[in-house]
Amino acid sequence: MSQIEFYDTRSRSQRPFEPLRPGKVGIYSCGPTVYAEQHVGNLRSRLFSDLLKRFLTSEGLEVTHVINITDVGHLVSDADEGEDKMEAAARRAGRTAAEIAEHYTELWRKDGEAVNCLPPEHNPMATEHIPDQIVLAQRLEAGGFLYSIADGVYFDTRRFPRYAELAGLDLEGQSEGARIGVTQGKKNPADFAVWKFPEEGVQRLQEWDSPWGRGFPGWHLECSAMSVRYLGEQFDIHTGGIDLATVHHTNEVAQSECGFGVHPWVGFWMHNEFLALQGSGGEGAGDEKMSKSKGNVKTLSDLIDRGIDPIAFRYFFLQAHYRQQQTFSDEAIQAAATGYRRLQKIAAALEEVEGEGDAAIQAPFAGRFREALADDLNAPRAMAVVWEVARSDELADVDRRDLLRRFDSVLGLRLGEALTESAADQGERDPRIDGLLADRQAAREGKDWATADRIRDELAAEGVEVVDAPSGSSWRRTGE
Ligand code: AMP
Ligand code: ZN
Repeated sequence: MSQIEFYDTRSRSQRPFEPLRPGKVGIYSCGPTVYAEQHVGNLRSRLFSDLLKRFLTSEGLEVTHVINITDVGHLVSDADEGEDKMEAAARRAGRTAAEIAEHYTELWRKDGEAVNCLPPEHNPMATEHIPDQIVLAQRLEAGGFLYSIADGVYFDTRRFPRYAELAGLDLEGQSEGARIGVTQGKKNPADFAVWKFPEEGVQRLQEWDSPWGRGFPGWHLECSAMSVRYLGEQFDIHTGGIDLATVHHTNEVAQSECGFGVHPWVGFWMHNEFLALQGSGGEGAGDEKMSKSKGNVKTLSDLIDRGIDPIAFRYFFLQAHYRQQQTFSDEAIQAAATGYRRLQKIAAALEEVEGEGDAAIQAPFAGRFREALADDLNAPRAMAVVWEVARSDELADVDRRDLLRRFDSVLGLRLGEALTESAADQGERDPRIDGLLADRQAAREGKDWATADRIRDELAAEGVEVVDAPSGSSWRRTGE
């Protein structure tokens, strides 16, 4: 059996993966900032860490997965300036920050369940770990890594020679380009706030006492403080979207390595690429990263409203390698929904088959599926094996059934679950055709047979057959 290998951002290479503690793996994933509904780009990040967890679990490893909830300190600029995203959302909604956090955390949990993500072992909120964050900041202060200026307590990045390592930063270039807009009094442009004081005259909803005065933690501190609480001072894998590598993760490394005196803090840094929205970059600019600040987002509820099964989004996610940019479009998600339904139908039919399979016959297929995932989680290659098995004329049905069950425990596509009658009958969904069918139904009810027949003939001309049954009409594409 080949060794598991993952790509590690820090070493910029694919390397063999060995857990730090035999049989156990600790994973920390940067989770949502709960000031708004998450979009399907964020969900890609969640699905990636879930696939990682499921795969490692299928390898017999005991995984402890921590996903944090950011409910304080993440400022609008993503740096140390601007309003806190939580405070701004609370002000707009006329609610408390805690109410906003609770509401969006609940939505995030529901989205995760809807796409069949396993719940993390720990799901800590930043505001529930303020003392842990203060203790870590005190350690940094004792080590001489911090300095105070008017608006907060800052980490002196010059004191940490490996600062640029994780993201391969060009700090000289950064200092040239970052002269404007630098917080007054910062020693280096890259220095970041560990503890912030509220702006003069601003009454914040969330602030705490600390040895440095009343205020709130910098955004990065929570991840360093909460990961040590649940995973120890060093752990196996840290995940997040690639946008986090240059600032947030770089600053987490600085805090943790200096605070705990360890190196490397994390064995593997695994970053997912973006989900982009097709055409959202404007003319000539192509597809742009989905992001709340740009407003080019789709949410899972948008998809559900259009009749798309949430698990079809999971199927869509599995069609690309996590380190490739993936583009979301109506056509792409519709195609994924169709592909998913076909696979689900095959798997559901195989669930009716009785008898025992032959492990020796299954082994090469199971082996190739595993090899694909052991090779830096190559999901598209694993899906090719899934389809090969689903379509195979040579394998016995019992073996196809067993293999699809086994694959699905890693993929989480709920393949074996019985299809609901409507989903099974429904075939493909298409809002335009559904609309025409509804018009035809209305015409029939009004005994306007000419219109009803015209709609049926028009659909037939584009290869769509209308099937009338006592329970109502449905449609399917001919020639499938
Ligand atoms: P946020 O709620 O903005 O703090 O982001 C939560 C997670 O989603 C982070 O790991 C981000 O890196 C990730 N993320 C944000 N936008 C995208 C996107 N368009 N595609 C993939 N991941 C993303
Ligand atoms: Zn983080």
